[in-house]
Amino acid sequence: MKNILLISVPGAGKGVVSNYLIDKYNFTHLSAGDLIRDEIKNNPDLAEIVSQGKLIDDSIINGLIDKFVSKNSDKNLIFDGFPRTMSQVPAFEEILKKNNISIDKLVHINIDKEVAIKRITGRVMCEDCNHIFNKYIDNLTDTCPDCSGKLYSRSDDNLETYNNRYDLYINETYPVFEHYKDILSTFEIENNAGINEVYDQVDRMMKEEI
Ligand SMILES: [Zn+2]
Repeated sequence: MKNILLISVPGAGKGVVSNYLIDKYNFTHLSAGDLIRDEIKNNPDLAEIVSQGKLIDDSIINGLIDKFVSKNSDKNLIFDGFPRTMSQVPAFEEILKKNNISIDKLVHINIDKEVAIKRITGRVMCEDCNHIFNKYIDNLTDTCPDCSGKLYSRSDDNLETYNNRYDLYINETYPVFEHYKDILSTFEIENNAGINEVYDQVDRMMKEEI
């Protein structure tokens, strides 16, 4: 298998699945979010647009993706966060065609909304050692179990932000999944249990390919 399109609700564990594919199966992560954040850092005009709360134009995002794919078309890619909307699908198809690559597997992570909310809103970081925990899953108070530092949560890891991101996903990104699941070979990962079950499922998916 060469290229994967990864789609799932926020908090489903795309990071966990991606990191496992990168470490064990030599994939390269195309994270649209990371590419956009890097570009904002280096482009004051774009930073200004974002600070005004405006959306970044699709043409800029398409350009960033195109540049990354052109540079990495010989690698095994995980497309994560692009296409995020149906309006980005034609550009996505164009980029694949231009670079003479295709998507071999659509990967969708299933998670109950309640579980995803617990994962996101329970996420805490240590002020001192920067380790990340989950206060529900790891059963913590506000002290780091590693170094006794103070734990804090990111300001955007709250229920309201999560619900907004979830609604955005249902309205804009889920149609992209619906579109591709009829065209592409699809693999569903269940992620309501633990991390080892997720790894087992990824291994099974990779084995099916050989
Ligand atoms: Zn700590």
